[in-house]
This record gives sequence, structure tokens and C-alpha cells, in this order.
Amino acid sequence: MRKYEANTIVPPAEVQQLAAEWLAQHEPVQLEPEQELLFIQFVQALVRVGAETAVTGPTYQRLMRTYAARGLPWLGKSDVLALYEGMCADGRLPYDPDFVTRLQKKPTRSQAGVTVVTVLTKPYPCPGECIFCPTDVRMPKSYLHDEPGAQRAERHGFDPYAQTAARIQALEQIGHPAEKIELLILGGTWSSYRRDYQEWFVQRCLDAMNGEDSASLAEAQEKNAIGPRRNVGLVVETRQDFITPDELRWFRTLGVTKVQVGIQSLDEHILAINKRGHDVQSTRDAFRLLRLAGFKIHGHWMANLLGATPASDRDDFARLWSDTAVRPDELKIYPCMLVENADLYAYWQRGEYEPYDEETLTALLADCLAQVPRYVRVNRVIRDFPTTNVVAGNKKANLRQVATARVEADGRALQDIRAREIRRQKVRRDELQLRVTTYETDATTEHFLSFETADERLAGFLRLSFPHPNQALPIPELAGHAMIREVHVYGPALNLSDDSAGEAQHMGLGSELITKAKEMARAAGFPKIAVISAIGTRGYYGRYHNFAMDGLYMTAVL
Ligand code: SF4
Repeated sequence: MRKYEANTIVPPAEVQQLAAEWLAQHEPVQLEPEQELLFIQFVQALVRVGAETAVTGPTYQRLMRTYAARGLPWLGKSDVLALYEGMCADGRLPYDPDFVTRLQKKPTRSQAGVTVVTVLTKPYPCPGECIFCPTDVRMPKSYLHDEPGAQRAERHGFDPYAQTAARIQALEQIGHPAEKIELLILGGTWSSYRRDYQEWFVQRCLDAMNGEDSASLAEAQEKNAIGPRRNVGLVVETRQDFITPDELRWFRTLGVTKVQVGIQSLDEHILAINKRGHDVQSTRDAFRLLRLAGFKIHGHWMANLLGATPASDRDDFARLWSDTAVRPDELKIYPCMLVENADLYAYWQRGEYEPYDEETLTALLADCLAQVPRYVRVNRVIRDFPTTNVVAGNKKANLRQVATARVEADGRALQDIRAREIRRQKVRRDELQLRVTTYETDATTEHFLSFETADERLAGFLRLSFPHPNQALPIPELAGHAMIREVHVYGPALNLSDDSAGEAQHMGLGSELITKAKEMARAAGFPKIAVISAIGTRGYYGRYHNFAMDGLYMTAVL
């Protein structure tokens, strides 16, 4: 693993102090020479424990106690990984990636093949006035001061460089490779921040990944394209009524690849009484523009808004898929959570709003989850507000598991991407079949190409989009192009130079998917194909698939 390099710009004093405190707490452990043999024995004991499973907390503690009694200092898993890597680098221990995997504290964080780094923008008002949305002046709109990610951002003064650098360091210390990073920028409505702030924010996040400063966003992007930690996805969240052709061009200039949009509801009345400030058509228009410009669309949908009933919520959720203009690629299902610092609280106090009870909500979520199409990834089923903030209604943080168990108990199966990802399971190429799922939207024909096992476990997928003939395009240069909107191959997040037998990322599945997409586009009569590549994936498309930068996208002649 590459070590993180120091920044050359001096950050503000309070950021320096926070960083110093953090580093002091995370000072690497040094072993005395006589402790090194004990450490090697300890590692060997860990390796012997459950060759196929993660080393659980109790097992780790038991072994640690044994070796601490013999004279080893008490080591956390991150200490063990750091020491282990040091010894491997010196040639004193053979490197075993399986051992590192088993010891990782939170294997799910990088299971989908990339490491996600989440950063928050500075506190700033949002043009929206949604009654369910909390206001905390210390935070960007819709975030609460004591949410875990928000605390992290505040600790770093919302500085993009400090947030990104600290996250990378923390992930690398617990054994998570951070060479392929999806950057998730959260906070209110991104498009309402000044563009110079947006540009600076992205530039500084990239500087942190690059480990060196740059004079401009373009320079930071150029460095990142060949840097040690590549940005393989950039996500922002904004409102549908900000999505215009001009905004999409700006997103591409920043390197954005995915946009999160709060659909919340597809019912005009519910949108109006919850004061969303836009209509359903605005969501439909935004999704059409985003899709035609190749962006991945991540929608948020809310249950239990003011005026909704379980029956109206079921109808509304069905519209996400029956309305061809909506059909997002990814979804967060957020049942409305009643918090004191949202306007909805006053409605509840006046008896005009009542949250669903746990059973009603569980049954509703189970019915929703069971109807999600196979081309959609459900990323979340509940907002992670700390339960101490929730005034009434559901406080269960594990409602997704409860609702999923309900679906399975009813003999129904989840089809969504997250339920079918192979995660860390090893598969052979001959166990996988290529499957194409085609569906229509109001402006495109979408092909979801997937590599699946016989029992429909998903090893990788590609989203191929064919704009309908004569469709007005938000980016006119894309005329005559088919579009690859996403390529995703699963497996643990391997470093750029690592190799690992049987893991989907290293079986060339991505290349096969791209080759197939090109064939399909050529057969459909498209002369060219474009891909909405992130900064850090440009080299891959250029080197292996003959794509070249052409304005805001990479394109190839078919
Ligand atoms: S648009 Fe989003 S962030 Fe703004 S008030 Fe509405 S829910 Fe909150």
C-alpha cells in the first residue's frame, strides 16, 4: 500500500490542530526487537483462525489477551495491519492479501469494488423549504450536527482537503485500499453553492487524493488521471429544478458522474403540502436530461410524508417504475423521520401529522423492496439520523434487514442489485453468463448488461443507453452516440497493482462488457459511442478500449 504524502499548502490553524490531535491519537505503534517474534507468532495465530472468515471481535480479543500476557503490547487491528505491512515491506513476513481481508474491520465499505469517501460542503442555506427537512445552522441543510459523517466534516472545519485526506488515512490504516475512490459530496443543494466554491471544493478533494497541490481544477484533474489514488466516480446531490443543459455541462467540467436527486414523491398534492417547491414534471424533465447526458441517476424517495397513507405510498412507489420518465438507476428509500428542528414537528404537535408505527412501516418497506427492478441498486432504506433526534415513529436503524426478512419470509425474492452482488464470493469465469435486460424510458432505450451466476448473483454490470431517434439532446455534441453510463465490476477494492485470483475485477469482466456494448451499439446503427468516465478511469478507457477525450466525454468510433 502506498503511504499518504503530506500536503504542501499550510491549512488553517484550527485544521492543523485537529490534524495534530488526530495524528497523536493514531501514532504508529513501535515494537521492541524482542517483541517482534511474538508479533509474528500472533499473526500466524490469526492466520490459522478461520481461514475463510473474518476474524471476529471476540476471537481477536481472546488471542490478543494470550499474546499480551506473553509481553506483546495491546494492539488494535489497525496497529496489526500497519506493523504487518511494515514487516512485509522489509521482507520479514510474506504478504498474504487474504489475511489483510480477514482482518479488515468493516469489509462492506469497499465491497462494491471501490472505496467511498464522503465529504460535506460548508453550512449554507438551501433554496428549498421542505417541511420535513431539518435545519441545523452548524450544518449544510438537511444534515444534523450529530450524524457521524457530519461530525467528521465539522471536525475538519468543512475543509475539503482535510476531510478527504483524513478519510483516506483512516481507511488505509484499517486495511482498506484507497486507490480507487468514489467521492461523494453531500450537503443541501450542490447547485445552489457558488460555482467558484464548487470548483475549489472539487479541486481540493482531488489535491488530497493526489497528495500534492495544484494551481487549478484542470491541473488537479490531470494529476489525478495518473495519480496514486484515482477518482473513479464523483457524486453530487441537487434539486431537480436546478437541472438544465448548462448545469449538466458544468457538472461534466467538474468531473461529476452521478447525481443524487430527491424525488421524494410523484404525487402533486403531497409535493405541494410538503412544500417541495417543484412539481412532478420537474423530476421527469431532470431525469430525461440527466439520462441523455449519460449521468447515473440516484433518486431519493420518501414514505410517510405529510398527507401520505400506506396505500398512497404503495401507489407512489409503483410510479417510480411505471412512469418511464422516472426509473432511477439507484434509490434511497427514506421514510420520513420526525425531528424537532424540521417544520413538520409543528404539524405533529398540532395533531396534523402522525408517523407510521413500526409494523405498518415494515410491511410497507417490504412491499416496496419486493418490487424494485433488477437494474436498480437500493443503497439505503433509512436515513441514519441518530435515534436520539427522532421524536416519534420508527427508531429502528436496522429496518432494512427487518423488511428484507419480511420479504423472504413471504416467499418473495429481492431482485435489486445490492441484494444480488457477489461481494467477496469468488467465482470462475465459466460460472458466469452475460444477460441483457432492456427497458424503455421516455427518451432512451436502456440496456442493462450483467454477468450473473446461475442463481442470478451479480458479478458486474454495464448501463448502455440508446437515445431515441430525433430526441433533443441537452449536450448536442452527443448526437449519433450511444452512451455507456456505468461500468461496475464487483470484488473487494483491490489496489491498482494488486492481483487476486477469482475476483471479478481481475477477470476482465469490465472489458467484456464494454466490447459487448460496442457490438450492440454498432448493430443498432450508432456510428459512435461515448462514456461518462470519471477522471481516474480515463486511462483505462483510452489504453484498453480506444476511447479518446472529446470535449466533455470520452468517445470511440464504432
Ligand atoms: S431541497 Fe433538499 S436540502 Fe433543500 S430543503 Fe428540501 S430536502 Fe432539504
